[in-house]
Amino acid sequence: MERHHKFSIWYVIFGIWVVLLLNNIIYTSIAPVRISYSDFLHKLRQDKIKELAIGEKVMTGIMLDDKNREVRFATVRVSPDLAKELEGHNIKFRGEIESTFLRNLFSWMIPIFLFVGIWYLMMKRLGPGAGVMSFSRSQAKVHAEKDIQTRFDDVAGVDEAKEELKEIVQFLRTPERFTKLGGRLPKGVLLVGPPGTGKTLLSRAVAGEAGVPFFSISGSEFVELFVGVGAARVRELFRQATERAPCIIFIDELDALGKARGISPVGGHDEREQTLQQLLVEMDGFDPRSGVIIMAATNRPEILDPALLRAGRFDRQILVDKPDLNGRRAILEVHARKITLADDVDLDILAQRTPGLSGADLENILNEGALLAARAGRSEVTMADLEEAVDRILGGLEKKNRVINPREKQTVAYHESGHALVAAYTPGADQVHKISIVPRGISALGYTEQRPTEDRYLMSRSELLGKLDVLLGGRVAEKMAFGELSTGAANDLQRATDLARAMLTQYGMGKTLGPVAVTQRNQPVFLPQDSVMAPPAQELSPATAAALDKELKSLLEEREAQVEKILTDHRDLLEKVAGELLQKEVLDGKEFRKLLGLEDKQ
Ligand code: ADP
Ligand code: MG
Ligand code: ZN
Repeated sequence: MERHHKFSIWYVIFGIWVVLLLNNIIYTSIAPVRISYSDFLHKLRQDKIKELAIGEKVMTGIMLDDKNREVRFATVRVSPDLAKELEGHNIKFRGEIESTFLRNLFSWMIPIFLFVGIWYLMMKRLGPGAGVMSFSRSQAKVHAEKDIQTRFDDVAGVDEAKEELKEIVQFLRTPERFTKLGGRLPKGVLLVGPPGTGKTLLSRAVAGEAGVPFFSISGSEFVELFVGVGAARVRELFRQATERAPCIIFIDELDALGKARGISPVGGHDEREQTLQQLLVEMDGFDPRSGVIIMAATNRPEILDPALLRAGRFDRQILVDKPDLNGRRAILEVHARKITLADDVDLDILAQRTPGLSGADLENILNEGALLAARAGRSEVTMADLEEAVDRILGGLEKKNRVINPREKQTVAYHESGHALVAAYTPGADQVHKISIVPRGISALGYTEQRPTEDRYLMSRSELLGKLDVLLGGRVAEKMAFGELSTGAANDLQRATDLARAMLTQYGMGKTLGPVAVTQRNQPVFLPQDSVMAPPAQELSPATAAALDKELKSLLEEREAQVEKILTDHRDLLEKVAGELLQKEVLDGKEFRKLLGLEDKQ
C-alpha cells in the first residue's frame, strides 16, 4: 500500500523512456525525406526543386518526386567547392550532422540525477517524517506487538497499581463478560508517577497478562512529525486498534503531546495541538465496549490539558509511586533473578540503604554490581560488589539532589509524625490516610495525606483553625525533637500564612477588618489560572495594614502554642510514630491509629 506513495527512482527512468519514444515517433512521422546532397544537385538540375530554405547546415524545401508529387525534403549542405569536385568523379555524396541527441539528453539528465540523489540522501539523513514528499500514510504507520512476555511478576513494589490494573486485564481477556452486564469500563487509564517507577513496564505487563496486541507510541514521537502527520497517525492508530480488539493502545510520555493548550502568545494551531485534538476526537468517538483500552503514562500530570482528564477520556488515574522499603526489596528480588548472587548477599540491607530510589535505579544497582564482579573476574556477584554499586549510584544521584542522608531522614520522620499527630488529636480534622517519608522529588521529602470522611464544600472557622494546626504540626515537632528548625517547613509555613491571611481578609473572621473583605481577585473560571493577570489587591491604609499584620502574627503564634500543647501531651507517641516511620518509611491510616491506640473510624 504505502509503496505507491514513496518516491521511486523507477518513476524517473520511466519518464525518460517516454520522452525518448515520443521523440522517435515525431521524428519519423513529421520529418521530411532526407536526401543526399548529390541527389539534391541532381534534382536542381532537373528543375524539380520548388522551394528552398537554406540554413547554416541544413537546407529544407519542397521538391517534385518521380511521380511529380510535392514532397518535403531536407539535405545537409556540403561545401560547394568540394561538391563540384566530387561531382566530376560521379560519386554519390551527402552531408552528415553528428547526432547531438544523446549528448543533449545527458546534459540535462545528469544534473537531475544529482539533485535526486542529494535529495534522497538528505531525506534519509533527516529520518522519517522529514521530507515533505514523504508526508503520507507511510508516516502514519503504527504496528502492534504481539506475545509480550512481560508479566505482573516482573513488576514489584507497586501493588496498589497492580491491583487496579487486574480489572483491566480481566476485561481484555473476556470483554463479553463485562459488556453483557452493560458495565462501562474506563476508556482511558493514566499511569502517573515519578520517572523510572515502572509505568511503561506495567502497561506492557497488562498486555502480556491479557495476551492482547499492544500498540505503543510515545508522545514525543508525535511532536517531531510534519504538519498533519501526527493527526493522521492518531487516526490510523485507532483504526487499526479497533480492527484488532481486544487490544491496548499505549501512549507513553503523554505530557509531550497533551500539554495544556494555553493562550499562545503567537497564536494559531501548532502541530501538537492538532494531534492532541485528534486524540480527543478519537477517544470520544469510539465505543469502550469495542475492547480497546487506552493507557497512557506521564510523570507530569499537572501540566496535562484538563480536557484529557475529563470523564470518558483518561478518567482513571493510577498512581505508580516510588517504592517503600518492602517494595524496594521486592524489586531487587525481581532483578536479582537474572544474575548469580553470592551467598553473602543480603538484599534487605540494600533496600534499607536506598530510600527514594526508583525501580529503574535499583535495577541499575544490580547491573552495576554484576559489571563490577565481571571486571574483577568473579563468577558470582558478592555483597561487596553490590555495596560499591550502591555507593556509585547514590553518588551519581546525590549530585542530582535525590538522596537524603540518615540525619535528614530522621528530621523528615519527626516532621511528618508531627503533622499526623496533630491531625489525629484535632477534633474535626480530616483522617490521616497515609504518612510517607519516601522522598518523591526535590521539594517533597515526605508527606502526610489526609482524606476527608465526607465531601465538604464549606468550612467553619474551627475547622480552618484545625487546618492551620496540622500545617504547623511538622515544624513544631521538629523544634521539639531537635531543638531547632529546618528549612523543610517552609512550604507548610507559606500555606499556613496564606490560609490565615485569607481568614482575616476574605472570610471576615478577624477583628481588625471585621466583616470586610479586601482581596478581590477576579480569577477567570474557564481559563487556566494565572493566564490572566489578577487585578491588584485593594489598597489598605498603612495603619490598617499594620494592624492586620499584627493580628496575623498573633493568630499564627496562638495556633503554634496550641500545637505545642498537643504534641507535648503526646510526646511519647511522637517518638513512637517517628521511630516506626523511620523503619517502615510508610504508614497507612490503620497502622498509624493502631500505634496511637485509637479506634479506626472506617
Ligand atoms: P517509567 O516508565 O515509569 O519511567 P519504566 O517502566 O520505563 O519506568 O522502568 C524502567 C526499568 O526499570 C524497567 O524496565 C524495569 O527494569 C525497572 N523497573 C522500574 N520499576 C520497576 C518495578 N516496579 N518493578 C520492577 N522493575 C522496575
Ligand atoms: Mg516510561
Ligand atoms: Zn510538612
